[in-house]
Amino acid sequence: MKKYKRTFREDLRMIKRALKLIETNTPHFLLHTYLYSFFSTAIFVITNYLTASIVDELTGNRDIKKILFLLLMYAAEIILHIFQDNSWRKIRTFNLISSKWEEVLLNSKSFSMDYPNMEDPLMRAKRQLITDSRSSGGLGRLMMELSSFFIGINQIVMCSVISMELFFRHPEKTLSGFEKFIDSPGLTVAFFMFVALCALGEYKVNSKYNRLGNIKIKSNSMIERLLHYYLDDYIDDSKACKDIHIFNQKKLIRNSSDKIYGDWINGCKELHSLFRKKNNRYNLFYVLTTAATYLFVALKTYIGAFGLGGFIKYQFCIARIVDAAESISGAITALRTNNDYLETFFEYLDTPTEMHYGTIPTEKRMDNKYDIEFHNVSFKYPNTENYAIRNLNLKFRVGDRIAVVGMNGSGKTTMIKLLCRLYDPTEGYITLNGIDIQKYDYEDYLKLFSVVFQDFKLFSFSVGENVAASVDYDEEKVWSSLEKAGMLERVKAMPKGLKTPVYKDFEEDGVEISGGEAQKLAIARALYKDAAFVILDEPTASLDPIAEHEIYSRFNDMVKDKTAVYISHRLSSCRFCDRILVFDNGQLIQDGSHENLLENPNGKYSELWNAQAQYYAENKA
Ligand code: ADP
Repeated sequence: MKKYKRTFREDLRMIKRALKLIETNTPHFLLHTYLYSFFSTAIFVITNYLTASIVDELTGNRDIKKILFLLLMYAAEIILHIFQDNSWRKIRTFNLISSKWEEVLLNSKSFSMDYPNMEDPLMRAKRQLITDSRSSGGLGRLMMELSSFFIGINQIVMCSVISMELFFRHPEKTLSGFEKFIDSPGLTVAFFMFVALCALGEYKVNSKYNRLGNIKIKSNSMIERLLHYYLDDYIDDSKACKDIHIFNQKKLIRNSSDKIYGDWINGCKELHSLFRKKNNRYNLFYVLTTAATYLFVALKTYIGAFGLGGFIKYQFCIARIVDAAESISGAITALRTNNDYLETFFEYLDTPTEMHYGTIPTEKRMDNKYDIEFHNVSFKYPNTENYAIRNLNLKFRVGDRIAVVGMNGSGKTTMIKLLCRLYDPTEGYITLNGIDIQKYDYEDYLKLFSVVFQDFKLFSFSVGENVAASVDYDEEKVWSSLEKAGMLERVKAMPKGLKTPVYKDFEEDGVEISGGEAQKLAIARALYKDAAFVILDEPTASLDPIAEHEIYSRFNDMVKDKTAVYISHRLSSCRFCDRILVFDNGQLIQDGSHENLLENPNGKYSELWNAQAQYYAENKA
């Protein structure tokens, strides 16, 4: 069975790519990570070396000058501490910067993604997974594990150099037979081989159990996410409170969370048992190595190969080599596990941009003479079987007032998405003034449209910034858009006028606005953009029919020579439109004025109109 999904070489390649990425944002991070590990190792190796030398001096020549010199060297170690601290602060800062930068990279990728990808549930799940795993993985984690890895390597190199002396330190006196055996190179080699085998054993135990532990931690973190959803997210959501009470969801939440909590506890127990097994095996190797080291070094001290200082020094170094094997194996396992995160992260960043980003600039016309035509357009959403739009032939004439009506799911919004190039047709094509819209510069083309979607979003920025969708704005134009949208008086009454923050997320003096007011702000935003096509896609769903009718009629006066498209469930709101498009099951089945369409009593429009007319008695007349 393959241990990891990726080969060692693939893992290395991934780490290399991540390191390059980190270096572009925080240059010299690798150098400082190495320096930090070097100073950290040097400090404790030198400290130990000095301790051993002082002990040798105290139990040997007792030369006070030499002892004072060694103590002075201790004090001089402060310089190493300063260097170590400096590198540590640098890598800590780099770490924080890189973690934030990771989010920035993700966001800029999300912003530059093709819209279909942005909306794709699989892509959104991938993004969510990356965000959720950031606490345990990422560029920051890579940096920390790399520093442990370097410390391990430095420890092995420095301590091995010192331990090599064991081969060359012999007693000066004449040795008896047993003493000769202790002093023989064969025993030293056998000892080192034994320690190396134990270290290898520790490495294997660590790798195996860390890997198994990480798999368990990962599956437990999925359970934790669910638990978090039930115990925090859902209950914290103020919108959920009403449903919790009305539908008595307490029981449902409790039952679900109890079950997940049980799974989580079991996961923790399994993890605990895994680490118990690991520690038992690891401790066996550790005790064997420590016992062998103490025995060997003590015997060499006993026969006079070196003094008490040597005993301290060598047993310390050998113990550090064994520890280093553990930290290296831990770091390698953690780095490879972290690559699971990096793999998803890079996959997300590498998502190709497939929509055609054309180059032709759109014509800037004061008369708004933009003719758009759908030529036998059919469309299927990615990863779906059914067509959401079928064989659509449609021409928008400049200055048209068009209402789009139809049952839920009949394809109205999809048609708007195709019109605005949020998606490209699966079959057929759309032209703007005779040229395929895919040939136009994408951003330039988008400037032609102002859309208020049903599920529009306002930000926790100021009113002015929300309306202008920009930090810099023309105040007069914002006020005028607010007036047209029917929000003038409300915003005037706000404590800071246009500068009043919307919502209280970040500012105490922010204003909470109702659903209807939010819709008016979204409409003001559409008016501020002053695009050639204005589209209202049922943004007034939470307004009462009279308010909706008022907004639609007012909007109609405001848009003047522009082409306006209105989508509404309430047919009465769209009566003023010169042209009504009736969609059914992805097809345009009727196209005409209100009066024309009503002339066909068996048509879909008549059916919808009659079904609704009873609610609006005044419209029957
Ligand atoms: P309407 O605006 O008339 O209510 P839509 O255009 O939103 O209808 O939807 C048309 C069809 O496309 C529906 O069957 C809907 O379920 C499907 N649909 C809408 N959006 C998506 C999407 N992002 N992914 C897959 N299918 C979708």
